[in-house]
Amino acid sequence: MKFPLHRTKFMALLIILSASLLTLKDSQALNLKTHKISNTVYALVGELGPRTYENNGLNNTMGFVITGNGVVLIDSGASPIGAAEISKRVAAVTSQPIKWVINTGSQDHRWLGNSYFRQHGAEIIALKKTVTTEKKFVDDHIRGLRNTLKERADGIVPQYATNELDTNHAKLTLGGVKFEIIWFGNSHFPGDSVVWLPAQKIVFTGDMVYLDRMLGILPYSNVLSWQKSFHKMEQLNPKWVVPGHGNVYPLATAQAETGNYLDFLVNGVRKAQADWLELDDTVNLLSEKKRVAPFVHLKNFDSWHRTNINRTYLTLESVE
Ligand SMILES: [Zn+2]
Repeated sequence: MKFPLHRTKFMALLIILSASLLTLKDSQALNLKTHKISNTVYALVGELGPRTYENNGLNNTMGFVITGNGVVLIDSGASPIGAAEISKRVAAVTSQPIKWVINTGSQDHRWLGNSYFRQHGAEIIALKKTVTTEKKFVDDHIRGLRNTLKERADGIVPQYATNELDTNHAKLTLGGVKFEIIWFGNSHFPGDSVVWLPAQKIVFTGDMVYLDRMLGILPYSNVLSWQKSFHKMEQLNPKWVVPGHGNVYPLATAQAETGNYLDFLVNGVRKAQADWLELDDTVNLLSEKKRVAPFVHLKNFDSWHRTNINRTYLTLESVE
């Protein structure tokens, strides 16, 4: 009766193999990379593509800072399940608890994981301006996540800041480390802010900066104040920029992929309107190969560039 034994062994091996493949697939699918910037400052870099069921809506970049007395998390992910994944990434680096969460923006993956960290005892910090926009769009964000995350969106409960700061520039010391939360102007969404570590010269920009992938001008974005905000942020002269989407780079990359692109949109459309070009002609002109050469390598370029010109044209037309 050798055959049945072999068969059993073979089946057992198959089960083990498929189980380990599944684990591998799960962890690859999530693809939330931990990027060490210094011994105490880390970025968590999500996928560059869209939100998916597999990535738990974590297609953005977040980060954390280990202080002398607990961890400060910058942005909390899109859901409690995503937050638990973030928590695991932090626990892989330090045994300290996450004591504070700062939200840089109002988009789902900046703050809808807050409830998880609150339940684990963290204080949630955000500028009042940011919270105002969170409240305004919360239903839309949750509806969108339900479509993508299905049952994984079930536990989402909006948890607003427990420490809401009614200022445009907050200075805090958390666990002995200095943090500044600064609103330079409305960007991707109204109320978007950045977190600045003055001693380390590292800035977490939230959705003000997109690297490796094309930024998106949304109906709620203000391209003019976004451009101005970026140039104010530049004055901090950061050594490292942790963007809202994409990998961590020096300031020069942020200037090349976000700052120059915002200048390209605003200045290009302004010139076209001064020349009395219609919308379609402006979109075609500013999509010419030689003009877009500095940006065409960015992921999602084809799906966003023409829309971005379009929305810039309409904004400038209405205000200038
Ligand atoms: Zn985003």
